[in-house]
Amino acid sequence: MEIRPQRIRTGRIVLGLIIAVTSALPMLFVQLDEPSTRLAVYKVLAKTGSLVGGMFLLWQFFLGFRGAVAAILPDLSWLVELHKKLGQFGTLIIPLHPIFIGIYYLEVFDRNVYDIDLASPYSRAVLLGMVLLGIIAFVVISSAFFRNKMGFYQWFYTHLSSYLIPPLLIIHGFVLGETIGGTSFRYIWWGLAVLMAAFYAYRFAHKLGAFAAGLRVGRADEVAADTTEVVMDSGRRIRPALGQFVYLRREALENAHPYTVSTYSEEEGTLGITAKKEGPQTTRLQHMSPGVRMMVDGPYGVFTRLALSTGDPVVMIAGGIGITPFRRVWQLLEERRDREAWLFYGNEFYEDIVYRDEVDALEHVHVVHVLNQEPGFSGERGFITVDMLARHLPQDLQAYQFLLCGPPVMVRKLEAALHESLVPDDQVQHELFSN
Ligand SMILES: Cc1cc2nc3c(=O)[nH]c(=O)nc-3n(C[C@H](O)[C@H](O)[C@H](O)COP(=O)(O)OP(=O)(O)OC[C@H]3O[C@@H](n4cnc5c(N)ncnc54)[C@H](O)[C@@H]3O)c2cc1C
Repeated sequence: MEIRPQRIRTGRIVLGLIIAVTSALPMLFVQLDEPSTRLAVYKVLAKTGSLVGGMFLLWQFFLGFRGAVAAILPDLSWLVELHKKLGQFGTLIIPLHPIFIGIYYLEVFDRNVYDIDLASPYSRAVLLGMVLLGIIAFVVISSAFFRNKMGFYQWFYTHLSSYLIPPLLIIHGFVLGETIGGTSFRYIWWGLAVLMAAFYAYRFAHKLGAFAAGLRVGRADEVAADTTEVVMDSGRRIRPALGQFVYLRREALENAHPYTVSTYSEEEGTLGITAKKEGPQTTRLQHMSPGVRMMVDGPYGVFTRLALSTGDPVVMIAGGIGITPFRRVWQLLEERRDREAWLFYGNEFYEDIVYRDEVDALEHVHVVHVLNQEPGFSGERGFITVDMLARHLPQDLQAYQFLLCGPPVMVRKLEAALHESLVPDDQVQHELFSN
């Protein structure tokens, strides 16, 4: 499916507005009949923490699930960023609730709500709220501060505790929420509870593979050292646009892993990915036999499309297996020849160059190989830098659309350097091959 860039931009704005409005909406139900302004302020702050912060977390949870959000917007990288931001804002706002509800109760009822008495149902519900706060803090702190140290899988399994947050939040709101219990907002809260239950069921069905296409492997060819292209019979059930990726697994409960679609033919009904050996799944992909059935879901992502929607010359910068999103782009540019295009491609050795023959045969796209370890190589070496780009590109850097894909360190450094060189933000896009 071709998605127009304008739709992507509009989609981002509309989703942002929906989140802002639905998160602020519960505040309309807060009853401010307090005897003093000070108490009214405490109440507003406490309710902002619980209702606005709670809505942020519910949205964050929803946006963390690719199967659901991709139906709204395929811009998965942007949605992941939004998911993180909502978690950060939510975590800043939510503590307002325990702080100011505690102060409010002390002033109004002379009662310390945190003096827990397990015999009291009210106190047990407060305790539930404290447990909820602990889980939120655990998920957010581990993601924000320890994500890199933990490694992908430890972080991933830790993150699963976030599944407890929506049900606990909803129950806590029903039992203690004065705005929820005492106003018609309770109907909305019921609606949210039903939606969340449906969402859990949907997510579980997704995990079981209910929405994945079963595609048979047609062929698997080595295209560089430890790198294999696996082409499947798509039956046109998955129609990826340029730069999009799919998730792949063999069996239902296995973790699905993302791979960019490196080849796609609508006429032949085939779709291929190219995997570099890294861990268990990419190793298995090196030895695929024809006929094996893979579970594939997607397509996701919008990488390359905003850049190609402009008439500007394009600079593709790839490191190692980060070349995959560019293959369909250079094929298109070779055919259309409607703009200047460059490919800067960094590898260690000549034999690491993925699709070497194809890259070297490009006529329209200018190719600059950067090989760090190849003995006797007389071309570029070292990191791809802004200076290196400027040496090869005939115009000022601000004239180009930059597309970056490769190791996160390379992408982040180069992106920062391009911004320092005054290349506007919307002329630099990246795809990261890790979460
Ligand atoms: C949008 C995107 C597109 C990608 N495209 C390609 C591609 O075209 N070719 C290619 O070879 N690789 C691609 N990758 C990387 C690929 O997903 C990982 O190399 C693969 O998942 C590793 O799995 P493994 O079992 O071999 O190794 P593991 O040891 O299981 O994982 C190695 C590392 O891969 C990353 N990873 C694993 N699972 C996931 C996941 N579910 N989501 C995000 N990152 C994960 C983590 O950083 C992890 O530490 C892409 C990644 C992303 C996010």
